[in-house]
Amino acid sequence: MEAPDQKILCFPALPIPDFSRWREESSRNPSPHWAKVTTDTGDARSITLWLRACPPYRPTREGVALSSFYIASNALHAQTRERALNLPLKPLLAGYGIGAYGRNGLIAVPGLGTRFAAAAEASFDPPDPLRKWDDHRPLDARCEQCGACVVACPNGALPGNGRVDVALCLRAQAQFQTPRMPDASRDRIGASQWGCDLCQEACPRNAAIAPVSMPEGLERALELKRLLAGDVKPLGEWIGTNYARPARMQARASLVAANLGRRDLTEDIRKLQNSPVEAVRDCAAWALVKLER
Ligand code: SF4
Ligand code: SF4
Repeated sequence: MEAPDQKILCFPALPIPDFSRWREESSRNPSPHWAKVTTDTGDARSITLWLRACPPYRPTREGVALSSFYIASNALHAQTRERALNLPLKPLLAGYGIGAYGRNGLIAVPGLGTRFAAAAEASFDPPDPLRKWDDHRPLDARCEQCGACVVACPNGALPGNGRVDVALCLRAQAQFQTPRMPDASRDRIGASQWGCDLCQEACPRNAAIAPVSMPEGLERALELKRLLAGDVKPLGEWIGTNYARPARMQARASLVAANLGRRDLTEDIRKLQNSPVEAVRDCAAWALVKLER
């Protein structure tokens, strides 16, 4: 599925950099996030880097939110599948000066802010000798007098030095359901069916990136009644089947329905108490208690 508003940038023939600092840091701070990331570039001579803009979506008419990042990321994944390299992309972007790290742990790129997805591809073109790699670039100068993201993060996941405490970040807590998402986090996801954009919404580096309406097909795919029934195929076409797994979306939709005070969906949520998946039963029980308060 294509979203019409996604501008694409391409950075060809990037020399393969020295990722030793990233390797050392990720081995000191192991995280499920790094499980699929590798610095292996096989027989590539250089790297082609793609960026796809993803301006934030306004919520659906029902009030459900979704981070547009997943749509852009899914589209890029399909585009680069043949020669994809699962490299650490943020060090690549910062090291080549394409963008700069902020206190929210995200890279901002001129014209896109932090609102983009990235993907790397193996290239057999000779590397561009004019591209210089520097793995010790400072935080974005705009962060010096700011700190809005640190304040905006509802879970205290941002210490303010450009790192993210993954264990506290709502995005990661949703993705890796072990340990169980804490009750406070379930409240804090609000109406977000997937993703958390609060530290991007607060960031003045995104001031020029205006929100856009969701494509109609995506809006329909996010109807809560549909998601609670496990009908996630339409959503999978937008965000990919890896994210749009039935149980995962059912569990999340029950939290969102409760946070939106949707008592009209109580019976739909009640049915999830018979789900064979423990996380679905658990989220449904939590939602029912919240709706009955
Ligand atoms: S994505 Fe959300 S929870 Fe994670 S650091 Fe940003 S504001 Fe905090
Ligand atoms: S909100 Fe402020 S401190 Fe945080 S990344 Fe953006 S500019 Fe930097």
